[in-house]
Amino acid sequence: MPVSAGIVRSYVPGETNESAADATAGLAQDGLLVTLDFLGEDTLDADQAEATVAAYVDVLKQLSARGLTRGAEVSVKLSAIGQFLPEVGHKTALENARTICRAARNAGTTVTLDMEDHTTTDSTLSILRELRKDFPETGAVLQAMLHRTEADCRALAHEGSRVRLCKGAYLEPEDVAFQDRLDVDKSYVRCLKVLLAGEGYPMIATHDPRMIEIAGSLASRYGRTPGTYEFQMLYGIRPDEQRRLAEKGERVRVYVPYGTEWYGYLMRRLAERPQNLSFFVKSLISK
Ligand code: FAD
Repeated sequence: MPVSAGIVRSYVPGETNESAADATAGLAQDGLLVTLDFLGEDTLDADQAEATVAAYVDVLKQLSARGLTRGAEVSVKLSAIGQFLPEVGHKTALENARTICRAARNAGTTVTLDMEDHTTTDSTLSILRELRKDFPETGAVLQAMLHRTEADCRALAHEGSRVRLCKGAYLEPEDVAFQDRLDVDKSYVRCLKVLLAGEGYPMIATHDPRMIEIAGSLASRYGRTPGTYEFQMLYGIRPDEQRRLAEKGERVRVYVPYGTEWYGYLMRRLAERPQNLSFFVKSLISK
């Protein structure tokens, strides 16, 4: 990692499949589940998309060989596996995702499709529907900031459906997304109610103490026991809270991004929490 390794490493534990498997093993020792993300979004290069698929297939083999797949799955950004290739994007991403789902199935685990900006939502949900015909265990992500998401939650709150609910990490225009943080939070709670009242498996992805507390009370209200839903947080963010929830008996999964293409991921994290920007600048100056 060429720049400011300190801050990068606090969010991205390594560059290689081995380092990802090591991080998974370390988190497993603390009773935490994992979803691995091989970084490399927005590619326009078919070879790079193929290399990303190969990396996923390999890391799944490594997890399986090390007995780690009971508690670890993978998260995939379709734009990293070809979704933006001109003309053939949708088809390529679907075929590549199928290859990863097959490898995950063979390793005894699952895939969750990350959600990217709103221009990709329909394509991603349609690829999810296709994949679920053969791999019904495939999970989806919905973003509370989008106006459409409460309806998408209703459509996906069925038995066997795994849905990660997050607030949404992309800058979106006001015709499709809530702009005010309070409106995003209200939408998050409405979506939580739909998912927790439904028949699927909600994956509650947030670091927000209020959302975590509300999710806990809603889970009790809808008769959900720990294990019928899970909390998810990003690697390096509120690690004490991750452990606290796990010690309390909740299922907690840590999203672990790894690889050399960490720049876009890190910039989104810095934009969300400008306090971190000063650490980043200091670590650049001290180089
Ligand atoms: P925010 O509104 O950012 O923060 C609310 C409160 O949480 C803060 O006031 C603070 O109290 C606490 N908090 C937040 N960050 C920190 C921190 N760094 N340190 C300490 N406290 C903090 N987005 C997508 O668009 N697509 C995806 O596929 C996707 N997958 C995700 C997977 C996981 C597991 C997670 C956790 C997030 C994912 N995201 C994804 C990102 C998500 O959409 C948000 O951008 C991100 O989680 C920040 O929102 P938040 O809910 O944590 O709360």
